[in-house]
Amino acid sequence: MPFDVVVVGSANLDLVARTLRLPGPGETVLGSDFAQHPGGKGLNQAVAAARAGASVAFVGAVGDDDAGRTLSSVAATEGIDVSGLFVADDVATGRAVITVDDSGENSIVVIPGANASAHVEDLPPATVVLAQLEVPVATVIAAFAVARTAGSRTVLNPAPVPPGGLPDELLSLCDILVPNEHEVELLGGVDELLARGVAAVVVTQGAAGVTVTEAPDATTWSVGAFEADPVDTTGAGDAFCGALAARLAAGADLRPAVRYAAAGGALATTIAGAVPSLPHAVDIERLLSA
Ligand code: ADP
Repeated sequence: MPFDVVVVGSANLDLVARTLRLPGPGETVLGSDFAQHPGGKGLNQAVAAARAGASVAFVGAVGDDDAGRTLSSVAATEGIDVSGLFVADDVATGRAVITVDDSGENSIVVIPGANASAHVEDLPPATVVLAQLEVPVATVIAAFAVARTAGSRTVLNPAPVPPGGLPDELLSLCDILVPNEHEVELLGGVDELLARGVAAVVVTQGAAGVTVTEAPDATTWSVGAFEADPVDTTGAGDAFCGALAARLAAGADLRPAVRYAAAGGALATTIAGAVPSLPHAVDIERLLSA
């Protein structure tokens, strides 16, 4: 049996320090609190897809260290298959060092570490393969090439957008692209992306909802955002992508799958943090039928 969703992407341990104000260059400040959280768009979206009801395998890499073991057990606890999670013995697990001040302003340093070491040649069979760009573009191209050959649908959340944009080779292997408003602008706009071979561009627009444009004739339609009382929008995009992949894998058409994903994104804004905020199918369905 193929997996519903195979996620190819990053797993990081987020190290979060809270301070009154961010330190300037050369400055030391005292912090008030420190916490560690699982993170990385790949792991977050794998958890989101699993909670949305999909059978999920996560393909990525961690180091042979405590952080790697923590992330692997987070995935396993969610019922995610981690046999494709490579353990590199020569490089540390990816980390994000985050400082947040009292006003909510932050500064972030990401050390990708083992995230460049994923092995995608023997990607497990999947109905949908979902990726982001916190792993090397070459890794995603190789994974999508395997996915195309196997007849899987490919979904790319192009975040972060690489400095030179996306190579044609990647876009031609991509069925559905899911950028946010900022990313679609960096990528030259929806028309440009359709012209370069993407079948559908799903632009997430935060509280303004979602706009979808489909090839071949650039048919455009929108789905409004669900009403939410946001406390922290971290994780909304990851909840959206994971839920979208899960619904598509379950056989839904694009429009109901986008509506389902928008409900997932809205719910993720109502709880603080990334992984803790990712909603389960039962909550998404409750919001959809409300
Ligand atoms: P990203 O986090 O990648 O920038 P968005 O902020 O666009 O992604 O959020 C993804 C989706 O989650 C949106 O398209 C929307 O459906 C939902 N969402 C995000 N913020 C809100 C909000 N404040 N209220 C309701 N839904 C939201």
